[in-house]
Amino acid sequence: MNRADGGARRARCPRCDRPVLRQLVGRRAALDVTADAAPMPAAAAQTLREPNRLTWCLRERSCSPDLRWLGPGHPADCPHPHVIDHQCTTPAAARPAAPRRTRKPPPVPAGQLTL
Ligand SMILES: [Zn+2]
Ligand SMILES: [Zn+2]
Repeated sequence: MNRADGGARRARCPRCDRPVLRQLVGRRAALDVTADAAPMPAAAAQTLREPNRLTWCLRERSCSPDLRWLGPGHPADCPHPHVIDHQCTTPAAARPAAPRRTRKPPPVPAGQLTL
């Protein structure tokens, strides 16, 4: 079995914990795609699209969903739902348990500490 053709796998974003679809899309230069799991109409996906945020054609197969590259052969009035690249709103540095802020130094002028 060729794992690369196994369709998308449902996962959760390690950062924001939202449901996403992960798949290697493409035959030669496969792209490691992480897309929002929520499907939307093709037209709606198109309006959200940005230069660095691609949309994908979502084909539900019997075993698993399959993300398709929107190539030249993709119809503009595609009847399939589309998904869009997951754009994480959680910065990479943030941890689920936010570290406590370091205590602020007391707002006392240095001169008064010598009392
Ligand atoms: Zn499509
Ligand atoms: Zn995320």
